[in-house]
Amino acid sequence: MADRQNPILPGSFLGILGGGQLGRMFTHAAQAMGYKVCVLDPDEHSPAGIVADKHIQASYTDSAALKEMAAICQAASTEFENVPAKALDELESLGVFVAPRSAGVSIAQDRVAEKKFLATWQKEAGIGPAPYQVIEKQSDAEAVSADLFPGILKTARMGYDGKGQVTVHDRDELVKAWNSFGEVVCVLEKRMDLAFEVSALVVRGHDDEVVAYPIAQNIHKNGILHTTTVPAPSINPAQEAKIIDAAKEIIRRLDYVGVLCVEFFVLKNGEVVANEIAPRPHNSGHYTQNACLTSQFEQQVRAMARLPLGSTELIGPSIMLNILGDEWLVSGKQAEPSWEKILKAPSAKLHLYGKAEPRVGRKMGHVNFVGKTSSAVESVCQEAIQVLK
Ligand code: ADP
Ligand code: MG
Repeated sequence: MADRQNPILPGSFLGILGGGQLGRMFTHAAQAMGYKVCVLDPDEHSPAGIVADKHIQASYTDSAALKEMAAICQAASTEFENVPAKALDELESLGVFVAPRSAGVSIAQDRVAEKKFLATWQKEAGIGPAPYQVIEKQSDAEAVSADLFPGILKTARMGYDGKGQVTVHDRDELVKAWNSFGEVVCVLEKRMDLAFEVSALVVRGHDDEVVAYPIAQNIHKNGILHTTTVPAPSINPAQEAKIIDAAKEIIRRLDYVGVLCVEFFVLKNGEVVANEIAPRPHNSGHYTQNACLTSQFEQQVRAMARLPLGSTELIGPSIMLNILGDEWLVSGKQAEPSWEKILKAPSAKLHLYGKAEPRVGRKMGHVNFVGKTSSAVESVCQEAIQVLK
């Protein structure tokens, strides 16, 4: 491992665990820089697997598959939040440069570990998680503090896009909800009075260089990200500075190499709460593909290849609009959205993930709008939203 400080050069293979859209956009960024990509995903038609230079079709814990990946890849990463830590450890033990390593990924995969981590330095950072309690057994639910109601019960593992979450108003509802989740480990979190939601996207290189993108403001619909707007229209400079500092502190404390996203809530009283950590490029960072000098996917390539990180400079105000499978399923039949109308705005950039089957709530693609002013971007995005209706 003597060459652990040297860059991994173009022409080499980079490995990705997971074949979803994040892996696909990573693959495109890596290939643009001359790298080859090997994707491990059990699905024959995964969005990343179909564009990768090599697709190993197997489960993430398949030892033979991990050995095959290790034999060709000099570095590996994950695009799938719930990839077993064991798979990353196995690749590392086979001599692969794994970024991020399993320790940081494991914390983000488990809401209990995540909240505990965020709470440990709440005092110094001035930003911590929402008040919460871990629910492991019925008596935890029965004895939970009344201050946490109304609260949101979240499964500790495997939640995404608002799945594995329910609002509860009292202990009876909490016990019922916990039973309905199959009595798995959960956290009950106090429901906060949100003014708006933002995310901080930070990247750390192998040499401890840390860069941050501008804070992005997110709107969710039915628990799924709908739009991301940059610069964040509602944030004040003091909040922005505090959030960026907190995110940089988080990535350093996790000793994490690669792209990391932290979601924050800004409350109506002006306080900031850390919500969750995503150990990978994030949907709210897709705007960087067209609105920043370096996209979040290129940064992931650079971090994995031990290259210097790129500039996070914003070229112009931007909005990212997610396109869900719902758009194909109008009045009970399948129809392609009117791309010619959506792309009428010359600054609209379409990114589709190559998913064959549109389903309600399934992320099929996104459109990035970039403009000279925030209001110009807002108006072209609103026009596209009207077309999609
Ligand atoms: P997911 O993993 O599904 O993204 P989150 O914990 O981010 O789960 O929750 C999804 C959304 O639910 C958040 O973006 C926010 O809108 C809302 N939410 C989650 N927790 C709280 C809370 N404690 N108070 C108020 N709203 C919340
Ligand atoms: Mg979230």
